Amino acid sequence: MARFCLCCSWLVLLGAGCAEKPVATGGIPPGVVEAERAIQASLAQLGPEDQLRAEQQYYCPVMPEYRLGEMGKPFKVVLKGETVFVCCKSCQDTAQEEPDKILAQWKELKDRPRATPGN
Ligand SMILES: [Zn+2]
Repeated sequence: MARFCLCCSWLVLLGAGCAEKPVATGGIPPGVVEAERAIQASLAQLGPEDQLRAEQQYYCPVMPEYRLGEMGKPFKVVLKGETVFVCCKSCQDTAQEEPDKILAQWKELKDRPRATPGN
C-alpha cells in the first residue's frame, strides 16, 4: 500500500490526477445535474447553518412534490418552536395558517426516502 500512496503523491505533485478527465455523472442526464446545481445554489443563499437544515429536510412540507431550493431560495418559518423550510412564499403563508398540519407532514418527511436524481 505504501507504493499506492507514493503514486498518489506523485500525481498531486505533477498536477495530474483526475483533473483533466470529464466529471463522471454516473449516467445522470446533464439537465438533472444542472437542476441539482441550481438547487444547491438556492440553498447556499440561506447561509451555512440554514443550508444544512434545508438539506436535511430536503422536501417542502406544504408541497412535498417539490424539493427545497427548486423554486429559488427556500423560505424559513418557525412553527411552534420548530424551524421549518418551505419552497416558496405561498407555502410560508400556508404553514403559518395550518402549523399543526404542516408540522405533522414535516415530521413525516424526515423519514421519507429521498429521490435519487435520474429516477
Ligand atoms: Zn411552495
